[in-house]
Amino acid sequence: MSEGHLDFHDAKGRRRILVIEDEFINREILGFLLSDTYDLAFAETGEQALAILEAQFETLSLVLLDLNLPDMKGMDILRRIKADVRTAMLPVIVMTADQEAEVESLSLGAIDFIPKPYPKREVILARVLRTIELFEGRDIIHWTERDQITGLYNREFFYRYAAQFDSFHPDEATDAIVLDINHFHMINERHGREFGNEVLRRVGQKLLEVVREGNGIVCRRESDTYLVYCLHREGFEDIIESVSLQMGEGYRVRVRLGVYPDVDKTIDMERRFDRAKQAADKVKNSFTGAVGVYDSSMHEKEVFAEQLLESFHTAIRERQFVVYFQPKFDIRPDKPRLSSAEALVRWIHPTLGFISPGVFIPLFEENGLIRELDSYVWREAARHIRLWKQKLGLSIPVSVNVSRIDLYDPQLLATLQGLVAEFGLNRGEMLLEITESAYTENSEQIISVVNSLRESGFHIEMDDFGTGYSSLNMITQVPIDALKLDMKFIRTAFADRKDTRLLVAVIGLAKSLGLPTVAEGVETEEQVDALREMGCDIVQGYFFSRPLPADGFETFVSGLAGVKA
Ligand code: C2E
Ligand code: CA
Ligand code: CA
Repeated sequence: MSEGHLDFHDAKGRRRILVIEDEFINREILGFLLSDTYDLAFAETGEQALAILEAQFETLSLVLLDLNLPDMKGMDILRRIKADVRTAMLPVIVMTADQEAEVESLSLGAIDFIPKPYPKREVILARVLRTIELFEGRDIIHWTERDQITGLYNREFFYRYAAQFDSFHPDEATDAIVLDINHFHMINERHGREFGNEVLRRVGQKLLEVVREGNGIVCRRESDTYLVYCLHREGFEDIIESVSLQMGEGYRVRVRLGVYPDVDKTIDMERRFDRAKQAADKVKNSFTGAVGVYDSSMHEKEVFAEQLLESFHTAIRERQFVVYFQPKFDIRPDKPRLSSAEALVRWIHPTLGFISPGVFIPLFEENGLIRELDSYVWREAARHIRLWKQKLGLSIPVSVNVSRIDLYDPQLLATLQGLVAEFGLNRGEMLLEITESAYTENSEQIISVVNSLRESGFHIEMDDFGTGYSSLNMITQVPIDALKLDMKFIRTAFADRKDTRLLVAVIGLAKSLGLPTVAEGVETEEQVDALREMGCDIVQGYFFSRPLPADGFETFVSGLAGVKA
């Protein structure tokens, strides 16, 4: 038995063995031999054995079965274990002095036997260990259960063992912890992959060291995220401290923790760690603390989010999503001229009331519902473009938001083309806003999708420009028809200490590329004038109008002097 194996058992908490044995002295001997390495449950009678099997089958790794019991035949117990689907895979080692019985028990599904009187301690331990490993699949244990880099559990096995941990500690408060290494991708980039792996390994090892004392289990979930499930503790600074490694001269590893303390054991294991992850994200860019704790406000948010997700389909069916329109004005002429509008969705919820998209869009982007919502919004937009053409005799192009998730939908182009055809729209009447950050995510694929949209006649506006991480240089390379400057951009330029240099530079760059610029979030006349001065083409914002429901927008448009000219 190698060190490694012992290690491996300890790390996840000891495995549990049911010893079914009526003789006191034999129980004592087995206890003496095994209790250092294993967690033992004893049954003195067949009845007790069946009760333990019934209640604890999930936590057992092995049964040691004496064939002579006062109230029942050992063979019958073996039969029942093998006949019950819940325990059929549980290995049973038979303990007997009767060689005949050995054969019969093997044929009934016992995996091995231990003769009586008992052989040497090493023999028993080796058989027990071998059986447990055999049962769990030695290869599986070594290659699938464990993460190759750190030797910690991988995610699937971790969740299983965490559940098992619960059954060993049913009444004790337990914490779910997520640990992330700060800026791990930078470590990889700057020092190379091998160094990065070394960091992962050392962090894993340190984590195992601190947590073992506190009785818990550890895994690496993916890349630089570790999960810890352990008995409740006060304070987590010791974890931070011991994992904040100094890697040679060059680098000090910094981490952040998300803790969901005293978990609710009635919810899914994965959910417990989702909560810990949420808590970790809370301190992601914080300089003040490295530990985020899941609290009741986060819980309320989660409950709210769930409520929204649950009512999504009803909301679509009952048309609770209402599309508002906000005009965009061309400010190049002395008198600004309506150029188009942006479709912005709102949720008028029957019980929760008005919900703004900033609340539900990110949520729907997380789980793909956004595709359904967006195509609903696009259809509404298309319908109104046509309605206004008929009713007002005006062609008002409307831009719709295309979420980055939509760009991975192979049907995207077909869906949009279908709408344009169905409502008899001209090219260029439906504009597409695609957020800047979508381009940085997977630029090659996104660029090819955007290219195909443009080739079929759609105009693309790059939305939220200035919030992503793209360089100014990027806009020279991507296929777009207009640049929509993010609101924050405008805010900083017009803040107390005005600094419009960046704005001027960007507008200038866009102009040199022949790209019109759209400024968002423009609220004052002063801003409009300054933007015009800088060469900005189109303006959208409260100064002209807030987003309006369709009929309000109609009234607004009809009130514009000379719009029909
Ligand atoms: P966005 O695309 O950047 O939309 C502009 C946001 O700025 C809108 O917020 C608009 O109401 C707001 N806004 C416009 N003018 C002003 C102003 O002068 N001052 C201020 N403070 N705000 C102004 P809204 O409607 O809450 O939408 C938030 C975000 O939700 C949008 O940001 C967009 O990313 C997303 N969104 C809205 N509708 C949809 C949709 O149908 N599909 C998708 N995928 N996303 C949408
Ligand atoms: Ca937009
Ligand atoms: Ca925007």
